[in-house]
Amino acid sequence: MSKPSKTMKKNDASEGLVALVSTPIGNLSDITYRAVDYLREADIIACEDTRNTGVLLNHYQIKPKKLISLYAQTEAKNSVSLVNEVKEKKLKLAYCSDAGMPGISDPGCLLIKEAIKQNVHVTVLPGPNAALSALVLSGIDTADFSFYGFLPTKAGNIKTILNKIKDRQETLIFYESPNRAVSTLHIMREVFGDEREFALVRELTKIYEEVIRGKLGDIDELVTDVKGECVIVVNGFHGEKEIDERQLKKEISQLLKTGKPLKECAKELATKYDLKKNQIYKLGLDI
Ligand code: SAM
Repeated sequence: MSKPSKTMKKNDASEGLVALVSTPIGNLSDITYRAVDYLREADIIACEDTRNTGVLLNHYQIKPKKLISLYAQTEAKNSVSLVNEVKEKKLKLAYCSDAGMPGISDPGCLLIKEAIKQNVHVTVLPGPNAALSALVLSGIDTADFSFYGFLPTKAGNIKTILNKIKDRQETLIFYESPNRAVSTLHIMREVFGDEREFALVRELTKIYEEVIRGKLGDIDELVTDVKGECVIVVNGFHGEKEIDERQLKKEISQLLKTGKPLKECAKELATKYDLKKNQIYKLGLDI
């Protein structure tokens, strides 16, 4: 087991610092003052693609002292020497992915892990993120949610995952490519049912930003051709789960025989099977 670690409160850059810097997901103006300042000061800017990040740096007239690429295929290997350089020379390193928050369906996570391993200060300069932006625009509940990133590409594998999560009550968020969005929505309809609400959020922060909201049963009318980047937000399951009535009635009877009131039996079995108390209470009344 690794030693317990404590993050120092002050990010003393004089000892070297690795910072994840969130960048725009469309509109180049969506970057914080702090991020721009940090990119100006950084000794090294590492990024997924130097051409993409170059556009952003040009826009803000930032002349990087050193611009290098670090992408999914090189992150694990090259983070080791990069963090070592930051530590040895006490440098300030900025890491930007192509868009949004590094580490979210993007490289950045392994770099942070390596910095923690080498005991180098880490920080984040927060900013745009497509998943959270889509969630708040969807109009679907934001109190509880799960983020699944990209689903697999094969229909069978998508179905396996969706079947596992179809009864989850929190809002579900998925990244999807525009050319697979329609077929993925059809699979969602098959697994989650016609009544489930969804939102397809496209081109966030860009000119053609659009949110299509409705029920999965209506996707044929609502969604035909999807262009641009998109996020699919799906409401959680709020219906009643399918239950094994015979088994439950048997268990209710057993509990009632112990002298417990029906209300308590319902509570106990609801917790055991992750069901609604009311559903079990009603069954109890039938006995
Ligand atoms: N790190 C990014 C973030 O913080 O959102 C996500 C990077 S991931 C490789 C790219 C996916 O994010 C896209 O395929 C799309 O699902 C979503 N995405 C990124 N920008 C978007 C935008 N402007 N509008 C809608 N979805 C976007």
